[in-house]
Amino acid sequence: MLFYGPPGTGKTMLASRLPGILPPLGRRELLDVAAVYSSAGLALPSQRPFRAPHHSASPTALVGGGSNPRPGEISLAHRGVLFLDELPEFPRHALEILREPLESGEVRIARARASVSFPAAFQLVAAMNPCPCGYLGEARCRCTPNQVQRYRGKLSGPLLDRIDMHVEVAAISAGQLQDAPAGESSGEVRERVIAARSRQGERQHRINADLRGRELERHCRLAENERQLLRRSVDQLGLSARSYHRVLRVARTIADLSGAATIGCEHIAEALAYRNLDRRQAVGAGA
Ligand SMILES: [Zn+2]
Repeated sequence: MLFYGPPGTGKTMLASRLPGILPPLGRRELLDVAAVYSSAGLALPSQRPFRAPHHSASPTALVGGGSNPRPGEISLAHRGVLFLDELPEFPRHALEILREPLESGEVRIARARASVSFPAAFQLVAAMNPCPCGYLGEARCRCTPNQVQRYRGKLSGPLLDRIDMHVEVAAISAGQLQDAPAGESSGEVRERVIAARSRQGERQHRINADLRGRELERHCRLAENERQLLRRSVDQLGLSARSYHRVLRVARTIADLSGAATIGCEHIAEALAYRNLDRRQAVGAGA
């Protein structure tokens, strides 16, 4: 997930709440996480890991390595959340390294004589400002269209492609904040997440994010209207073939959260609404 919006809108706070709405670690997951933390010489966290490395962190600190290889931040976030604030400030090659673990759930570190691999199945949550100064659309923003495009261009298409949900976090006034109704607690949201995950477990013995190939086709089967809506939208928005399957998995999850047995047009429309940035990029860059 990628949050984008001006500074001070709570992007970091939202990200840090994510481990609290995820189900507790299962026995197997707990053993894996314990092994990673023990090999890093760190104490086991009390809930799912939440790691937030700074953009100045070295590639070794991020992905792991060293003469006696140790796990990096992405492995310390295994089965938890890796939060990258100010995503475009990370060195480009550091972001490109993330692509492989985002697909495979592990990271291989090549050494002179052998290679080691560490588990790295994390949920990536990133945050960015809409422009270098952060206040795009307000009078105080002096960023030129060129600067804005260069800033966004630091995120490559293939990386954006692997981020399922782009969520705008808009600035709200103090008045709106005061009038807002009390929200749900993390505990209440977590109940819904646990229910949705147990539906996935009963149906396919894995979470939707891990569905591939045949299984994906089978468990995310669409009726004719839904299939046409998704095909047409992916074409019109200029999304990649990879993102077709990603939108499908997100739509399946939205359906699971609402207790629906099949994926409806409303679930697809909502999943598509989270692909804001590739869409803009397609329009802005003419690609
Ligand atoms: Zn600006």
